[in-house]
Formats: sequence, structure tokens, C-alpha cells
Amino acid sequence: MLWKIPRDGLDAPGVRAYPPRMPADPVLRVAVPAPLRHTLDYLPPADADAASLAAGMRVVVPLGARRVLGVIVAIAARSALEPAKLRRAFALPDREPVLSAELLRLCLFAARYYHAPPGEVLVNTLPVALRTLRPAGARSTRRWRLGAAAGGLGPQALANAPRRAAALELLGQRGTASDAELRAAGITSATVRALAASALVEPLPDDGSPCVALPAPPLFGSAGSTTQGGATAPALNAAQQAALDALDAARDGYACLLLEGVTGSGKTEVYLRFIERVLQSGRQALVLVPEIGLTPQTRQRFEERFGGVVTVLHSGLGDRERLAAWRRSADGSARVLIGTRSALFSPLPELGAIVVDEEHDASFKQHEGFRYSARDLAVVRAQQCQVPIVLGSATPSTESLANCAAGRFRHLVLPERAGEARPPVMRLLDVRGQPLDGGMCPELTARIGTELAAGKQVLVFLNRRGWAPLLSCADCGWMAECRDCDARLTLHRAERLLCCHHCERRQPVPATCPHCRSARLLALGAGTERAEHTLQRLFPSVPILRIDRSTMQARDAMERLVQEVGRGDPSILVGTQMLAKGHHFPRVTLVAILDLDGGLFSADFRAAERTGQLLVQVAGRAGRADLPGEVLVQTFHPGHPWLMRLLGGGYAAFVGPLLQERRARGLPPYAHLAVVGAEGRSEAATLRLLQEVRDALRRAHPAVEAIGPLPATLPRRAGQHRLQLLLRHPHRAPLHAALDAACTLLESQRAAGITRWHVDVDPQDGA
Ligand code: ADP
Ligand code: ZN
Ligand code: ZN
Repeated sequence: MLWKIPRDGLDAPGVRAYPPRMPADPVLRVAVPAPLRHTLDYLPPADADAASLAAGMRVVVPLGARRVLGVIVAIAARSALEPAKLRRAFALPDREPVLSAELLRLCLFAARYYHAPPGEVLVNTLPVALRTLRPAGARSTRRWRLGAAAGGLGPQALANAPRRAAALELLGQRGTASDAELRAAGITSATVRALAASALVEPLPDDGSPCVALPAPPLFGSAGSTTQGGATAPALNAAQQAALDALDAARDGYACLLLEGVTGSGKTEVYLRFIERVLQSGRQALVLVPEIGLTPQTRQRFEERFGGVVTVLHSGLGDRERLAAWRRSADGSARVLIGTRSALFSPLPELGAIVVDEEHDASFKQHEGFRYSARDLAVVRAQQCQVPIVLGSATPSTESLANCAAGRFRHLVLPERAGEARPPVMRLLDVRGQPLDGGMCPELTARIGTELAAGKQVLVFLNRRGWAPLLSCADCGWMAECRDCDARLTLHRAERLLCCHHCERRQPVPATCPHCRSARLLALGAGTERAEHTLQRLFPSVPILRIDRSTMQARDAMERLVQEVGRGDPSILVGTQMLAKGHHFPRVTLVAILDLDGGLFSADFRAAERTGQLLVQVAGRAGRADLPGEVLVQTFHPGHPWLMRLLGGGYAAFVGPLLQERRARGLPPYAHLAVVGAEGRSEAATLRLLQEVRDALRRAHPAVEAIGPLPATLPRRAGQHRLQLLLRHPHRAPLHAALDAACTLLESQRAAGITRWHVDVDPQDGA
């Protein structure tokens, strides 16, 4: 940048300003993709126009010897660094911010709250296509044409700029050319950018959208009409109407409403009506769903109602498609955006409401890297934007229920199934002393048989993939264990492999015991693969559909499955929790839950909540239409109090005592927790690091309880020893102050470099 000294005002001849008034370069506060919990200061790129700088812009900066892409989070007048130490940014890839002030604020809040490096947060929230050093707009497929200013150029205008002249000549001859074609003609993207900056060339309108827009149905029918968009909507029942009225009344500012409704009570119907009103008022709606809740059916329902204005962000999209969706949200052509966790960070300039469906679902929490809760941040975003947010669930989280009790959220309840559907009948099957075949007792397989004979469909739930969770030697007791994790290997029979479900390890199945050479190796217990095999043997003429991570890899596997089941012929669905969420299979009348006992005796205080939610959600798949449903739960512990409460009074009877217990034990939601976790090859070094943190915190923050260091739930994974220090306090502020201190201390230890560490605020597992 040139040092331009203004010649007016105080700098009149003869008056010597002291210190000399030289308008210095502004300083860019940049979040860089590095594990730093603060921003770095840079000078703007040499050719940048100070007036064009804005927070939220991407910027290419030097970091050590690397060139990295950062985001400007603020522009300051001066830096605390000595001027000589300030490095200059290389370039601004875009002319405008990629992050709105609103999103920037949300990201910075998240970075602070979760004690995460702001650069990692910001860069993670951008679509992958915007995380590279290429300009946001320019892709290799972008096409250019002559711009408005090109017509006025005289023949000699670019005589001194032969490459620009060549570019204009080429475009003049061909009409349009892509980046690749221009490059082939020896014209660099820098040349094209320079031409674009003076409007001599311009990009063709973006045709990168991969989604064919559906014809938009007449959205804005008269109020009270029962046809919304293309599809006919049922008339709401009284509870639904009351919920909708409450949501509607909250439309003009921030409010958080918990919509608790048993499975099939018509929550989605309420969201659809509410969103219709949000759209009518000219605003956008954001709908967050769990990872496996984004079923083809959910998607279809929204698309039938709202047509082409719905944009769906799902895991099957490629980087280009994600970028296109991101753009549609940003430019307002997406009015309803549905997506999983990361969709929270989509640009929505006219955001009018947020819906979080199945708000209790664990997949809203990211467990690696930037550990955030999309549900909790959605509430923050709603607050920042002053819009209402609805959290919906049949099995609300203890956090949300406590927020209702404290008056922070409003509690809306749909007590009954909508339409004709009745709640399913639940029954325990005591499997003590019974022979199990493929994990199923004889009474269960007999019931499955009668149900199929009556022309119905059956769902068998088993939250374990593979053939058997354990391969053991009948002679010496050897068990197949992972070399790198504290975990057993799962037998996958069809693939003839032993697999570790915690790391990527896979190894062949031994023919004899590696310890005593005995050939008597036993596969103990049952996973979905074994259950499927057994059911096929018992019911050879019935199609068995297995649904787990192994069988649902293909992009449209779930779609095909839903179609197959939708035909309604007798069949059995066997699957893991992928089956539990959101699906609506009207002809499923019997749900069998094979093994829930694991959750009843876990050391994790959240296991009760998880187990109760899973049971109620799986059970909710039974009898969702006019056919009555039945749920059979196999257990070795028929007298367990959790099961008694769930069967006796449903989720509400179960979660009430749970909340009381949490309060008595000083556990969330009545206290705040955070984990400082560390992992390394050396157990001793990892332990020492966390002990140092603990001792420092006990000295400086004695009010915050520091428990541990203790082994993580899985103490060793992929060869890394994992330990954690648990911090607890009844209030957030002291906990966060302690976390700040912990991070500062750990950052100063980084040089050692042998131990990786992280902070998990409001941890959801293994605490
Ligand atoms: P949830 O989201 O609570 O599981 P849904 O909105 O998916 O419930 O509704 C379950 C089923 O009931 C769907 O097939 C839906 O079309 C139907 N339904 C919802 N509301 C009504 C209503 N008021 N009258 C009749 N059927 C309804
Ligand atoms: Zn042996
Ligand atoms: Zn492993």
C-alpha cells in the first residue's frame, strides 16, 4: 500500500504534526486454521483498497512458511505487535465477505463457548469448496464473457498489456470461454481477475446448481386451507392447533418452545404449518434433523408441501452441490433449508424460524475436532437473530425439560397419536434360562411367525452390527481383542473378518486359537448379520431387509428400502438404530427389541436417558397407522426399575425420577461439566500433563471441582492412551474461567508435542 499523506487540514505547510500523522494501514484480525485460541494480526494485502476490507472476508495469509486461508474477524486501527513484526496478507480471494456479520458473531460465540480455535470453527463452517485458496466464485468450470466496459475500449487501449488483450480477443471471437480454456490459451486466472475487476470481462450467471428446481406450488393459499402447496394436509387436531397457535404467537421475536409429542402425534405436521406461516411472512426457515433422521420420507414431505423452495443438505452431496446449496441459502432462493448438524452454519439472511427435530438426538453433538452442540448453538442463533425456535421430540432431553421447568423454554405437548393410530402395547420377554437362536427366544420367533402369517411386517431391533460381538476359545478362554484398542473384535462372517468398531483394524478370522491351537472357536452373542441369518432360516419365504452401516453404504440404499417396505408385503426389517428414527412404516405392527440390557448397567450417568429414549423411539415404529402395534422387549432383568417405569408410564414416568436423581447427585442439567481430554502414545506422559492441569486449576480455581485424571470410556484407541480430567461447577462462568486457564497452560506445553489434548464443554459421552 502507498503511503499517501493527506495535504489538507493539519498538515498545512510549516505546521509539523507530532507524531507525524500518517494514516497507517488498518490491521486485520485474522482467524487462521491452526490450533490457536486467538486471532493473528496482519497488514492488508499490498494491493487492497482499504475501503473494500470487511469482517467476514476470506484472506490468504502467511503462517510460518505456509500460505493458509483465514477469515477476517475484525479490522482494527492498530496492533499490539510492533509494526516490524506484522506480516502482510497475500491476497483477498473474494470481493465480499463470505460470512455475514450474524454468522461471524455466532461462530465467534461458539469458539469462545467451546474453547475452540476460532480459525478451525470458521473454516469448518464454510463449505469445503470455500476452504481452499481458490476464489469463492471461480471454479474450473466457470465461464466468462466480455463485460460491460469492453465495448468502450479503443484498439490501442491494452497495447501494453498483451495478455489481457489476448484474453479479450479470445472472448470476442468465441463469445464465452471457461477458466480451463483460458488457461490453455496461456491466460492466467490473475489476468482474468484483473479484467473482471475493471468490468472488461464478467462471469456467466451461475449454472452450477445440480438440483432441478421442482415447479413451485402455489405456496400461499388462504389461511386455514387444508391444501398446502401440492399436497393435502390433514386438519389439525386440538392439541396440534394449540401448539401451532403458540408458535404463531411467538413469531415476532426470540422464544424457545419444546414440542413434546409421542411418536406419530403429528409434530412434523405442526412444523409444516408453522413454516408455511414463516414463509408467508417472507422469511426463511431452517430445519435441523439428526444424521439418520433425514429420511427420504421426511424430505419428500417437505418437498410435497413447499416444492422447489426446499433445499436439502444431506451427506450424499458432493462439495460442488454443497456449495450450490450454500449459495441458494445465501441469496435467498432457498426458503426452507433442511440439513443435519452442520447446516446450522448456513447463511440465511432472512431467517425467520428454526426447527430442531428429535432434539434429544446425540448426533447434534460433534464428537471430534470442533466439539459443539448444533441444538444448543441453534438456540443461540435464534436468540441472536430474534426469531423463534422449536425443539421437537417424543423423548425430550433432560436439558430441555429442565429449561422448561426453569421457565427458559415453553413446553408444548401433543399427548396422543394423530389420526386413527393408537399407542403400541409394550411387553417384556424374560429371557433368563431360555435358549437364544440368533439372539431371539422361542416365544419371540413364534410371535414373529404369527404376525407374518397375518400378512404384517415386523421390525427387529439390535444395536450391534456384524455376526457376533465376541469370538472366544472354548478350551482356554482366549478372546479376540483389538491390538490397538481396549476392545473386543466383532466377527463379520460374510466378509470373513474380525473388525474393531473403534479403529479401522480388520484382520482375518483365525482357523485355530492363537493361544492353545484348539479348533473350538465360538462366536458368542448376536449382531444384525446373525439375526438376519437366523430369521432367513426360520422364515425362508419372507424377505429380510437388514439395515445397518454395513448394508446402507450405497447412496440410495435407504430410499430403495423404504420403497420395498412401502409395498406392504410381509417382511422383516432387521437393523440398528438407523431404523429407530423418523421412519414411518405403516404396515409394521410388531417391533422386537433384542438387547437393551447393555445400557441398563453402563457407568455413564447418561446411559439411562439414552436407553429410555432408544426404547421409546424404536417402540414408536410400531402401529403408526390404523393397525394396532405391539412391542416386545427381551431382557435378562425384567425387574429393572427403568424398564418398569418405561413400560408402566412411558417416557414421562421414566424421566421424572431421572431428573430428581440428577439433581440430587449434582449432575447436568443441574450442574455444568467440561472435560479436558488428552491422548498420547505414552500413558505416563499423558497422565502427567493432565495432573499438571489439575494441580494448577486446584490452586487458581479451587471452587471448580477437578475430578481425575481418569481413563476415558475407551481407555486405549488406535494405540493412543486416553485420559480425561472432568471439571464441574453449578454455574457456567467459573467453569469457563477454569477452562480458559487450562487452555492457556496446555498451549504453553504444546512444544512437547507428544500429547494431543482437547476441551469438551457440555460433554455428551463418557464423562
Ligand atoms: P411425528 O412427527 O410426531 O412422528 P407426523 O407428523 O409424522 O408425527 O404424523 C404421523 C402421521 O400422522 C403422519 O402420517 C401424518 O400425516 C399423520 N397426521 C398428522 N397429523 C394428523 C391429523 N391432524 N389428522 C390425521 N392424520 C395426521
Ligand atoms: Zn484357546
Ligand atoms: Zn481397534
